[in-house]
Amino acid sequence: MRALYPGSFDPLTLGHLDLIERGCSLFGEVVVAVLQNPGKSPAFSLDQRLEQITQATSHLHGVTVTNFNGLTVNCAREHDAQLILRGLRAMSDFEYELQIAHTNRSLDAEFETIFLSTAAHYSFLSSSVVKEVARFGGRVEHMVPAVVAEDLKRFFNSAL
Ligand code: ADP
Repeated sequence: MRALYPGSFDPLTLGHLDLIERGCSLFGEVVVAVLQNPGKSPAFSLDQRLEQITQATSHLHGVTVTNFNGLTVNCAREHDAQLILRGLRAMSDFEYELQIAHTNRSLDAEFETIFLSTAAHYSFLSSSVVKEVARFGGRVEHMVPAVVAEDLKRFFNSAL
């Protein structure tokens, strides 16, 4: 089975990576789809995010990395994915995630959304927290893949 894992991934964290790894063992194939959201101004360009994910998942079989804009269900159809994978960290994620899942099902009932609960030790992680820590020179090596830690250092040094 092929699962689509859509998100902003600005940047990819070890929590995201854990979800990709578990998705791979459960479903065999995971398409990580980076959203080009015109409403958000990301810290990392689309190309940087695609490169970070490609490098961080190079040890995994069955992962492909792509980008999309527009509707997630259209992206799932384009990539021949049977389900949409999302992560749940806490109750705070639940309401928003449920809203998206219902919306996607109302648009196309063909695609089920499957939620995986986050690994407990990564449940505190979010891309924005990681950026906040890195901005003030904090250590992020236990939060993000090595390639992302390097990019964060470069990004915030050049922003000084
Ligand atoms: P979006 O802007 O679509 O929420 P994110 O990149 O923030 O994109 O998240 C993509 C998906 O990964 C979401 O389902 C989110 O709940 C999940 N996620 C975010 N952080 C973690 C984490 N630390 N562990 C596991 N899943 C996570």
